Amino acid sequence: MTELSQLVPYDEALSRYEPVIGLETHVELGTATKMFCGCPTTFGLEPNSAVCPVCLGLPGSLPVANRAAIEYTIRIGLALNCSIATWCRFARKNYFYPDMPKDFQISQYDEPLCTDGWLDVATGGSTVRVGIERVHLEEDTGKSLHMGGATGRIHGAEYSLVDYNRAGIPLVEVVTKPVAGTGALAPETARAYVTELRDLLRSLGVSDVRMEEGSLRCDVNVSLAPRAATEWGTRTETKNVNSLRSVERAVRFEIERQAAVLDAGQKVLQETRHFHEDNGTTTAGRSKEEAQDYRYFPEPDLVPVAPDRDWVEQIRASLPELPAARRARLQAEWGLSELEMTQLQNAGALDLIGATVAAGASAADARKWWMGELARHANATGTDLAALAITPAQVARVSSLVKAGTINDKLARQVLDGVLAGEGDPDAVVAARGLAIVSDEGALMSAVEAAIAADPDVVAKIRDGKTAAVGALVGAVMKATGGRADANRARELILEQLS
Ligand SMILES: [Zn+2]
Repeated sequence: MTELSQLVPYDEALSRYEPVIGLETHVELGTATKMFCGCPTTFGLEPNSAVCPVCLGLPGSLPVANRAAIEYTIRIGLALNCSIATWCRFARKNYFYPDMPKDFQISQYDEPLCTDGWLDVATGGSTVRVGIERVHLEEDTGKSLHMGGATGRIHGAEYSLVDYNRAGIPLVEVVTKPVAGTGALAPETARAYVTELRDLLRSLGVSDVRMEEGSLRCDVNVSLAPRAATEWGTRTETKNVNSLRSVERAVRFEIERQAAVLDAGQKVLQETRHFHEDNGTTTAGRSKEEAQDYRYFPEPDLVPVAPDRDWVEQIRASLPELPAARRARLQAEWGLSELEMTQLQNAGALDLIGATVAAGASAADARKWWMGELARHANATGTDLAALAITPAQVARVSSLVKAGTINDKLARQVLDGVLAGEGDPDAVVAARGLAIVSDEGALMSAVEAAIAADPDVVAKIRDGKTAAVGALVGAVMKATGGRADANRARELILEQLS
């Protein structure tokens, strides 16, 4: 049932079925050392150079929990409005992990560190409160590299290599409660949740949250049920979705695919699925095992974790301004509506505008340039605003040149183009392209006189009292000066000449 021709068109699927989504997000913590040993967590080291008897699972080695990782997890839990356990244990999750030499993973099972919180997420002009089931701490696995094949996947590979540098890096898993009732906005809600979570984690300073480096990975659960049904459908779990856009596409594809399965009178299989970036589809992975298949039991090599209440309160008191609070403050300071603020956020413009304001521009001007000319440029070139070759300081300078009357808005767009094209700072572009407004009255007056001389018909109309006709002469002056004249001053001079 995964033939693309058999998908049900999205709107049609939504007219008959209600989606329920859930997200499990893994975050590699940015601690200096691993979860249960002293090996460094640095990304990109020589393979198997950051390993020791503990993370290689050698006989006789014993793990010791990383205090910083526990503190980071509590920070995340508090920021997500969770309760923090007074006492909890790590659990051993037994499974065959080719890239985990112990062949078990130390995780948390029925006693997670943080439980029962929420995160508010803005979509489509309204707010969805996403429930947080749990936040728990575990260790990452190593990484298998499949060599000799075309795709880098195990299928078709000649041999595999294992790099254990990642094995034992502290990993936090944030699991949502099922999110129902978002209807057609389900894909957008999933993306908005991961975006909000990413921004939250970044503000907490607990992870570099780079999806492209795998430090933030998302498993996307989707189920569909007929609109009148009282029970939810069977869910699939699409693993390791590695970009915000892919999160949205994976949900959308699963809705279209599962609708086709249900329409055909078949059952959706409970299974893990793989997402394919190239065509936005998912394909079946393994059938999903149940929790009891992992034979969890309390980890005997580690003492329980019992975070002192005073310590938890100290951590709570040290939380920074969180993204939602910051947005609310900036929205008030900048005088924007909820929708306008959401647009800035979705465009990835919040920090850029903030930095442009900090560099001296007004909020209105900063927003005008980033959401106008620069957003158009980003769209046209298929890049993110933040990736454009222009800094907030340069945008602030363009804004101040307009304010000083050196250039007008129209010329400012040319200045921005010049900066983006690598022609240098705004002042350099103004000088090199000769974009400064003609402030020399003599030069302006000759353009005015030329325009009057060239159009006696219009001049006659103006002298008859039809002053609206002056626009044609102003236009001629603007054309003659390449748009660099002060239009208001030109109008004044023309009317003076003809009075
Ligand atoms: Zn180690």
